[in-house]
Amino acid sequence: MSTLIFVVFVAFSCSWAASVDVHGAFLECLSGEFRNYTSISSLIYTPTNSSYSSILEFSIRNPRFMSGSIPKPLVIITPSTSHKSLMSSTVLEKMTCKSGLEVAAMTLRKTAWVEAGATLGTLYYRIAEKSPTLAFPAGECPTVGIGGYLSGGGYGGLFRKYGLGADNVIDARIIDVNGRILDRESMGEDLFWAIRGGGGGTFGVILAWKVQLVDVPERVTVFTIHRTLEQNAIQLVHRWQYIAHRFDPNLFVRVLLTKVNSSHDEGKMTVRASFLSLFLGGIDTLLPLMQESFPELHLVREDCIEMRWIQTVLYFAGFPIESREVLLNRTQPNLRYFKGKSDYVQTPIPERGLKGIWRRLSQPNSAETEIFLTPYGGRMDEISESAIHILTGLSPREAYVNYRDLDIGVNNIEGETSYEQASIWGMKYFKNNFDRLVQVKTMIDPSNFFKNEQSIPPSWIAKEEI
Ligand SMILES: Cc1cc2nc3c(=O)[nH]c(=O)nc-3n(C[C@H](O)[C@H](O)[C@H](O)COP(=O)(O)OP(=O)(O)OC[C@H]3O[C@@H](n4cnc5c(N)ncnc54)[C@H](O)[C@@H]3O)c2cc1C
Repeated sequence: MSTLIFVVFVAFSCSWAASVDVHGAFLECLSGEFRNYTSISSLIYTPTNSSYSSILEFSIRNPRFMSGSIPKPLVIITPSTSHKSLMSSTVLEKMTCKSGLEVAAMTLRKTAWVEAGATLGTLYYRIAEKSPTLAFPAGECPTVGIGGYLSGGGYGGLFRKYGLGADNVIDARIIDVNGRILDRESMGEDLFWAIRGGGGGTFGVILAWKVQLVDVPERVTVFTIHRTLEQNAIQLVHRWQYIAHRFDPNLFVRVLLTKVNSSHDEGKMTVRASFLSLFLGGIDTLLPLMQESFPELHLVREDCIEMRWIQTVLYFAGFPIESREVLLNRTQPNLRYFKGKSDYVQTPIPERGLKGIWRRLSQPNSAETEIFLTPYGGRMDEISESAIHILTGLSPREAYVNYRDLDIGVNNIEGETSYEQASIWGMKYFKNNFDRLVQVKTMIDPSNFFKNEQSIPPSWIAKEEI
């Protein structure tokens, strides 16, 4: 049985740039392709356009990707549903695509078609419009795009109960390299498997996902308990590692380690562990459960707040819980830039290891550093490793593909990349599923049209270069 803790310092990926020649050729191609070009010209942004920077940068959280040395897309297109034909194969040949789709269409049978440009916040908002007792198991940050999020698996506060976001995808529409629009039936189960966890930007352009919504109680409970070093934080985190993945699946308790001002020693800094929790039920059920599962935390009624599930999204994102409209914002107020990294821990970190982490966090140069520890278990223990390619454990130096980590290896920027080279980073994200992903890539995109720093290469490249 594994204690699956997931340490996040940072994360991201960036777009691949085209050459200046391609830029002109692309616009020429587009105007030739579309008789009605003027009707779509307002969707096209090039670096000379005044809105280009704001569109490019709205989702950048790591400022490194804004620097002049990082290649930028020469053309950004923001189509909506009515412009589907825009994304034909001819257009795709020259295109660096950033989908701007954002509508979440919903049926009343607990399923929804979510267009790939929608943010998680939009999806949550639209679900809450329909029902207070339906939800989708995805992440806490409302401005994350559903296109990339589900392509990499997608964990969140409901995943101990319902699995990853990608486990709850039941159909998808994708444009392949030949411009065909495929659904689950026409793409086949191998490709359908690969697009739900194999990472974005590798197999084609996802237009929309059909997702299974999940049931949540009308009232759920949240709590946040802070403990500093002086309040036994290390012992509590140590204990938490042994039990958090075994809690009732309705209970999700993650830990955030941050550096804060000491309340005991004025002028000094200390490290604080915050136990952030979502429970799918009311306070009266939670209190005895916590007393039984984690009495050392001394949870009391006053620590807990009952609310609707949609309000928990706002609560964990740091917004007032009545400000639901904020979920529709594609840009994040109080934007904070950061770099993220992930790792997996299979055996609990001993107290001396935690003390080491505390020491590192206490260094003057780690003022802004945060560490999230996220327990797996519950439904995640029932899902086989081959069902989805997110890692479920093993040694540090393995990573979660949605926190793209270019430090673990990259493809060649120019020319092709061998299987051997790609497997350096690929095995860390996907373990043995990497080979199956290569097979799917070879089948769907043998010319390796869709590629980026960490996209899956087709196998002919492997054969040629080995
Ligand atoms: C603040 C913040 C909080 C986060 N919290 C969580 C979390 O709780 N849980 C979690 O699992 N992850 C989380 N993440 C990571 C997040 O899931 C990834 O960064 C994800 O890649 C974001 O997708 P995007 O579409 O917004 O980003 P983008 O950078 O636009 O896309 C990421 C990748 O997916 C590709 N892609 C995007 N759309 C499509 C499409 N329609 N078709 C094909 N490929 C596409 C892009 O080409 C790129 O390679 C968080 C990230 C941030 C910045």
